[in-house]
Amino acid sequence: MQYDVTVVGGGPAGLSAAIVLARSLRSVLVVDAGEPRNAPSPAAHNVLGHEGIAPHDLLARGRSEAVGYGVEFRNDRVHEIDRASGDFAVTFADGESVRTRRIVLATGVVDELPDVPGLRDEWGHRVLHCPYCHGWEVRGTRVGVLGTSPGSVHQTLLFQQIAGETTLFRHDMDGLDTDTAERLAALGVRIVDARVDRIETSGAALDLLLGSGEAVSVDALVVAPHIVPRAELFTRLGGAVALHPSGMAHIPTGVMGATDVAGVWAVGNVTDPGATVAAAAAAGVQAGAAVNLDLVTDAADRAVQEMRATPRT
Ligand SMILES: Cc1cc2nc3c(=O)[nH]c(=O)nc-3n(C[C@H](O)[C@H](O)[C@H](O)COP(=O)(O)OP(=O)(O)OC[C@H]3O[C@@H](n4cnc5c(N)ncnc54)[C@H](O)[C@@H]3O)c2cc1C
Repeated sequence: MQYDVTVVGGGPAGLSAAIVLARSLRSVLVVDAGEPRNAPSPAAHNVLGHEGIAPHDLLARGRSEAVGYGVEFRNDRVHEIDRASGDFAVTFADGESVRTRRIVLATGVVDELPDVPGLRDEWGHRVLHCPYCHGWEVRGTRVGVLGTSPGSVHQTLLFQQIAGETTLFRHDMDGLDTDTAERLAALGVRIVDARVDRIETSGAALDLLLGSGEAVSVDALVVAPHIVPRAELFTRLGGAVALHPSGMAHIPTGVMGATDVAGVWAVGNVTDPGATVAAAAAAGVQAGAAVNLDLVTDAADRAVQEMRATPRT
């Protein structure tokens, strides 16, 4: 099979790119391994027109809209992408492959969670990372922050604005400098200088069992995952991952998603680890338009070459 564009990843970024391209009469294949980042969460917030929609429902709607414009889907993982005579060969896990003229990487990221027993089970429910995704839901309640990096102080500042009571558990974070400790104290944040060894659930609360032997109950625990871009396909094509201004790794792109690898665009969390659903979708729309312009430009160049090569009669 030959497509104009293959989109790797069917989250908000990839689906948005696919729809723009299909509406421009491009043949589009979306390959999706079905692990969108916010899948553990019951609801997606700050999604205009779909506030609080279940992540799976949002993507199902997006897929159905894309299918309406002729986008083809394959529920699979792209195993490899190779250059092949000016185009790309996209190979799946079973060894089957398709040809495509352009690639959009919308593969997202992996959130590597702190290794605390009981934490992963609550990820996206009562173990949270983003004040804008979950803050409203925990307003006025007891919020703990698991200290793992300087980013934990940033999270503490943001969540204390919303929470009723905020506790920063130093866990394996370096000691706080005097200014930071003073700022947090002035805002009423309690600092507990202990590791969290285990998390147990009791009714609506999370019980944090500390290295000190103490147990502290909170209503939600905030963590800072180590965010890893799914960029292996990009690096194997010769691309280089860089540090985003946020300090996280990402695929660097121009404003419309073009990468340094010719014919390859990247959108959503894989290029902007902080992008929300709406931001990832917006980036997908922009990249879709940019890929279409690239194909239009390519066609115009070829047409000129053919016209010049045709002897006038
Ligand atoms: C717990 C949690 C809650 C969140 N809540 C919100 C919220 O309320 N509001 C909000 O705006 N944002 C929220 N976010 C952020 C949101 O998840 C991201 O903004 C969004 O998922 C980014 O979209 P994306 O398309 O870039 O990546 P994703 O949605 O992660 O989609 C990437 C897709 O690519 C697929 N893929 C990866 N590699 C391959 C491959 N090789 N072959 C085929 N497919 C592949 C994956 O399986 C996945 O389906 C939350 C994040 C988390 C972790």
